[in-house]
Amino acid sequence: MTEPEKTFRASFGIKGIVQHQLDQSYHSPLIDKIRTAGFSLRTGRLEIRLAKEFGFCYGVERAVEFAYETRARFPDRRIFLTNEIIHNPRVNAELQGMGVKILIDDASRSEITEKDVVIMPAFGVPVEALREFQKKGCVIVDTTCGSVMSVWRRVESYSQDGFTSVIHGKYDHEETRATCSRAAKYLVVKNKDQAKQVCDYIAGFGTRDSFLMAFKDACSEGFHPDKDLGKIGFANQTTMLSRESIEISEMLRLALGARYGQAELSNRFRHFDTICSATQDRQDAIRKLGEKKMDVILVIGGYKSSNTGHLAEIASEFCPAYHVEDASSILSGEKIRHKKIGAQEVLETSGWLPAGEIKVGVTAGASTPNRLVEEVIQRLIDISGAK
Ligand code: SF4
Repeated sequence: MTEPEKTFRASFGIKGIVQHQLDQSYHSPLIDKIRTAGFSLRTGRLEIRLAKEFGFCYGVERAVEFAYETRARFPDRRIFLTNEIIHNPRVNAELQGMGVKILIDDASRSEITEKDVVIMPAFGVPVEALREFQKKGCVIVDTTCGSVMSVWRRVESYSQDGFTSVIHGKYDHEETRATCSRAAKYLVVKNKDQAKQVCDYIAGFGTRDSFLMAFKDACSEGFHPDKDLGKIGFANQTTMLSRESIEISEMLRLALGARYGQAELSNRFRHFDTICSATQDRQDAIRKLGEKKMDVILVIGGYKSSNTGHLAEIASEFCPAYHVEDASSILSGEKIRHKKIGAQEVLETSGWLPAGEIKVGVTAGASTPNRLVEEVIQRLIDISGAK
């Protein structure tokens, strides 16, 4: 399909106009200072250590800048976001405050006309939504991250060669929905337990009905496991736990090798690691920080943020770790509100901050601005009596 001239995929070149606004909302002099001081801050009884890689990734930074530029470029038009631009409530609220409206569901697209501007988020949109916007003739500002698009290219090539894309991801995550829409046949597996179910089926265990029931929301229409698991191309949502992705890929490779023989494997299995480098760097950095024996680690980011959740999972391997949304989550030195590791539940935990001199590790997901990290650190200093 020929794209209308109204689609923009690169900056409007007016960052200078919005830079002040971006700095006001997201920049943090305190974080700059801690970085310059070797990612460490000593104050009172606290030694605060920042992970060497944290916060806004290149894809998020670009998407947010592009959205601000869009507001400046089209001051008189209605502007819609197809979804949250990134999974951070503060950033989405700032954009809403600038008059950008977030479409809450697919049905709400009907109010868009050719006079409007639609911003597509960093994790992209499904092909059907893109086509609908193109048909309406509205201005499209596409902030999809290049690393997400490289996953799309991968699954498209699997489809062209007759392979089913098995995607390690969350089937209801926007990025994975967009990726699935580019595959002729797909199956989404969330974790190693689900991967094992797939491997067991390849080995001849289980019934088709129970398999389809287990993956009813996570496979392409008309998926037929007897036929569609014979040739697998593996990919992942860019923000998954990289170690788990590698393990799942290997499980599938072994299952196909055992079923069809090693000589057949190159015709039946393809693999490409599509974890993005920003996710990988943040996961490596929190692991290194954990190895330095922190007493407690704070992981800052939106509760819907997949990559923040995985950082919290890694941190919890080393010491107590709390996934907090912002400074208001630190209720006191006694109580903290946080998302349970590996679950959706939000809890309040008592006795979270140890007494005496302590080392507190801090990291933040790829959608968390530095200003928010600063506010959490400041709150920590205030409630610990460390001023
Ligand atoms: S987490 Fe990775 S894929 Fe997602 S926006 Fe950031 S750089 Fe792009």
